[in-house]
Amino acid sequence: MKLYNSKSRKIEIFKPVEDKKVKMYVCGITPYDTTHLGHAFTYVCFDVLVRYLKFKGFQVTYTQNVTDIDDDILKKAKEVGKNWKELGQYWTDRFTTDMKALNVLPPTYYVKATESLPKMIEIIKSLIQQNIAYENEGNVYFDVKKFKAYGELSKLNRNQMLQIAKDRGGNPDDKKKHDPLDFLLWQNSKEDEPSWDSPWGAGRPAGRRGSPGGRPGWHIECSAMVYQYLGDQIDIHGGGRDLIFPHHESEIAQSESYTHKIPYVKYWIHTAMLMYNGEKMSKSLGNLIMVSDLLKKYSASAIRWVLLSHHYRTPWEFNYKELDEAEQEIFQIKTTLNHLGPSSHSEPDLSGEKSNEYLKQFTNLMDNDLDTPAALSLMKILGNNILKKGKANVEDSQKVLKNLLKILGF
Ligand SMILES: [Zn+2]
Repeated sequence: MKLYNSKSRKIEIFKPVEDKKVKMYVCGITPYDTTHLGHAFTYVCFDVLVRYLKFKGFQVTYTQNVTDIDDDILKKAKEVGKNWKELGQYWTDRFTTDMKALNVLPPTYYVKATESLPKMIEIIKSLIQQNIAYENEGNVYFDVKKFKAYGELSKLNRNQMLQIAKDRGGNPDDKKKHDPLDFLLWQNSKEDEPSWDSPWGAGRPAGRRGSPGGRPGWHIECSAMVYQYLGDQIDIHGGGRDLIFPHHESEIAQSESYTHKIPYVKYWIHTAMLMYNGEKMSKSLGNLIMVSDLLKKYSASAIRWVLLSHHYRTPWEFNYKELDEAEQEIFQIKTTLNHLGPSSHSEPDLSGEKSNEYLKQFTNLMDNDLDTPAALSLMKILGNNILKKGKANVEDSQKVLKNLLKILGF
């Protein structure tokens, strides 16, 4: 099986660290708003990867996180006058409901960042001890100059990194930093923000009511959860392409500095951005298509079909026409599977051999960097051939079609 590795920018033969065992982590949502189709694209693609790896005989341990403490959640909680925890739980539940509707299998471990705080503190302590991180007035920063490989994943130069850090809340103008590219590992909580006890924050009794303690930076959350739930080295780390910098770049710096196990991740897999009305589907642009809205008008299978008819690495533009067409495809396949019924003929036929041929074609396509669009086309061809055959000798073909659809999560 071959997969595209964003780190090497090459299609590589997939070989996990431990034979037949796959450790996989995918960055989860920050639950402050509803699930849009861009999220669904990412999680459905990784769902198919998990299902396919299992079909290939791998034992998969899959961890996904919920970034339940973050600037965005606190900001939104303030805006709507809700408790940050309640807000996070509400949107997490909505997200898991949407994923269940789309037949996305739950990960082995689905964990909240706030459940890994001791691990985060342990990692930060070690980084300070090694002189790779420094404290300044209660904030702790990672000193990027101490990590030579910083930038190797994104392949961005310093100016590009600074620009993106600025656009994505990296705050390069923060005077407490030694270098504008240094990133937060821990920060002081403001009076009205949640806070946890920590060894940092000189002169401020940490974590007590009325005396601000601290809260973690974003990137350290994932490093801690990967370590806690999967170990010091994993096979696959996934997420949307917009997470490459600074999030995943910073995760590598923290984790490899902490564990000294290189590489932290063997294969970096990133999903492409989804567009709508000519721009990236994003909260800030207000061009979101919500999964829950689509589910009111379309079947979950049709939504899944549209998502998988686009390769996970190819950016694409959503339009409703594709959903209508997908609904037709689903109807056609259902007819193929149900209407004909299994053959009662006992005469010998070659359909078994032919069916194996389909299975071979299917695995060839999926082995080639998870070519789901081509796999869906194959489903259509197989379906058409079953219809052509009429009532006789279709049982084997129907079985194969059913099984292949199952691997794709239908
Ligand atoms: Zn993450």
